[in-house]
Amino acid sequence: MYERILVRYGDLTLKGKNKKVFIDRVNNLIREKVNNSIVKYEKNHDRLYILLNGENHDEIIKGLGKVSGLSSYSLVSKSGRDIETVLENALKVIQGEIKHKEIKFKVETKRSDKQYPLKSPEITQLVAAHVLKNTSKLIVDVHNPELVLNVEIRNDAAFIYCKKIKGMGGFPVGVAGKGLLMLSGGIDSPVAGFLSMKQGIEIEGIHFESTPLTSIESAQKVIDLTEKLAVYAPNSKIKLHMVPFMELHTALLNYIPEAYNITIMRRMMYRIAEKIALRNNCIVLVNGESVGQVASQTLTSMSVINDVVRMPVIRPLATYDKLDIIKISKEIECFKTSIKPFEDCCTVYVPKRPTTAPNLERCEFYESKYDFDKLVDKTVADVKTIKLSAKEHLDITMLGLVVSEVI
Ligand code: ATP
Ligand code: MG
Repeated sequence: MYERILVRYGDLTLKGKNKKVFIDRVNNLIREKVNNSIVKYEKNHDRLYILLNGENHDEIIKGLGKVSGLSSYSLVSKSGRDIETVLENALKVIQGEIKHKEIKFKVETKRSDKQYPLKSPEITQLVAAHVLKNTSKLIVDVHNPELVLNVEIRNDAAFIYCKKIKGMGGFPVGVAGKGLLMLSGGIDSPVAGFLSMKQGIEIEGIHFESTPLTSIESAQKVIDLTEKLAVYAPNSKIKLHMVPFMELHTALLNYIPEAYNITIMRRMMYRIAEKIALRNNCIVLVNGESVGQVASQTLTSMSVINDVVRMPVIRPLATYDKLDIIKISKEIECFKTSIKPFEDCCTVYVPKRPTTAPNLERCEFYESKYDFDKLVDKTVADVKTIKLSAKEHLDITMLGLVVSEVI
């Protein structure tokens, strides 16, 4: 019944060269995520057709769900434009949608070829009359239809479809440039990473791991989460920079007063992240901070922490409610991994009373008590980078390079 999928691109208000870049990127992403050598692609200005060539459409539609920059897609049937053929094809399509019970429907016609001999309302009437006459389960309901039979008359052909499946929206990943995602094993940062990719930002990950102060499983969690995010990345791959944070972490515990420990730890993370970002052509930092969630995420804390970097920091979740974050986390299949109970470097030795209103001069004063710059440079030099793929699983014990000593 359906022999093709009509794919509609997202926000195409872009002009000229940018529009071409957008479309080329989105088309490449589609080919990669659909990953099927039998289907064929037909380009057409503001849309793309995937010719199924007999392939089952379920897997292909699943693939399209991983492409950022698509507004929607529909299974469609193409036919000749003469009204007899259109009527025949419309009947075939709607027959395929009728199950056992009665169904409320309406017909909607779009006519982009204004020379076509019939006007849209006339086509709608003819189609509705034809399908009603030849089926028994249909009831017209223009206000509350359960099914809309869409007829599109274009210059080259007529297209008929019933459902519009919503796409990811946003922009094709990579079109906005690259950001470095501060990725913990928690719920928030993977969601922040997903939202950035959806908005066109390609990401690399950076994780601060304090093995053996923290468990090896907490580092594995971050690998698993990166693999989940890679589903949406170009070529389904994401680079992850593993920062051996144990030595710096220990120095912080030894030299920084408890109330300032988290604030200054996060300042160190930002400093290191900016250096790694610059080395890897990332233009911004991205993290999962959400205003008010914990002591380090008050506006004062965020501002004092942010003070150590020049690079813009993008916080996609800044104003999100935790329940909304969890909803997305489940949709992208990260939640179960994120809630596994392994501590990371923000959860070991959590100070009893972290300050919610740190003072910048005090931070600078405490930091001057020890040669942290040297330790930051050493830590940066020891960063290990791994490339992770949505298609292969990496077990950290196979890596051989883990980072600080594995215990
Ligand atoms: P998450 O759920 O992402 O862990 P959170 O609500 O637990 O966030 P924090 O632990 O304060 O909040 O961390 C805030 C943000 O800082 C995280 O979303 C993440 O972007 C970054 N971050 C925290 N810990 C690490 C880490 N060990 N490595 C890399 N980034 C981290
Ligand atoms: Mg956390």
